[in-house]
Amino acid sequence: MRKPIIAGNWKMFKTEAEAVDFVKKVKPLVKDVKDKTMIICPTFPALSKTADELQGSNVALGAQNIFWEDEGAFTGEISGPMLKAVGCTYVIIGHSERRQYFGETDETVNKRIRAALKHKLSPIVCVGERLEERESGSTFKVVETQIRGAFKDIDEAHWDNIIIAYEPVWAIGTGKTATPDQAQEVHKFIRGLLPKSVAEKTRILYGGSVKPNNVKDLMAQPDIDGGLVGGASLKPDSFSQLAMF
Ligand code: PEP
Repeated sequence: MRKPIIAGNWKMFKTEAEAVDFVKKVKPLVKDVKDKTMIICPTFPALSKTADELQGSNVALGAQNIFWEDEGAFTGEISGPMLKAVGCTYVIIGHSERRQYFGETDETVNKRIRAALKHKLSPIVCVGERLEERESGSTFKVVETQIRGAFKDIDEAHWDNIIIAYEPVWAIGTGKTATPDQAQEVHKFIRGLLPKSVAEKTRILYGGSVKPNNVKDLMAQPDIDGGLVGGASLKPDSFSQLAMF
């Protein structure tokens, strides 16, 4: 049985004070949710105070990126030990915005996954095709390349901690959600690419304009195990509605 996950990717939104305010408001709304894992991923400067405010709650903390070295002359980067020390248990890796704007590749995604696993952070690894790739019929090829590159030589023993997010790029922040059938088709395909011993227990989240009004239909699909949510995770009300699908 795969416990569903609702993970909020806050991207570059919310100051520290706004993040703390969100947590104060969301905690009572989701306090009885036991059948899902809930995660919020604020910006780096908001992590510390958000972690304090989350203490004792049923919402976990994640970061939006991780560098592959533990420390050193890497201006602007954040390492696994630093994320661990601040209270993170999850980290988003390879989001399409990082691939598009910051030169992330399958190779660097692989290095970041290794760093996360080394420091006992669960990576939420994002894959997904762009609009022109879907339109030219190469969705499966693109996703397969991303999955094979991301998980190259990752030991099967680590798979309990790995989460995958399928996020068609054309659906992120656009209001255009993949239909439940379109998403299910790719989720099933991804599961089929995973090592046999781990495929059935690995959680594969869908991301791309998930909202309270479409979450139920998406989550009803057999291979969709939760959502990675941007816009609709920013308000306590809609986050809590998502967590109660
Ligand atoms: C995301 O940022 O991963 C995402 C899916 O965003 P949105 O829900 O806003 O489409």
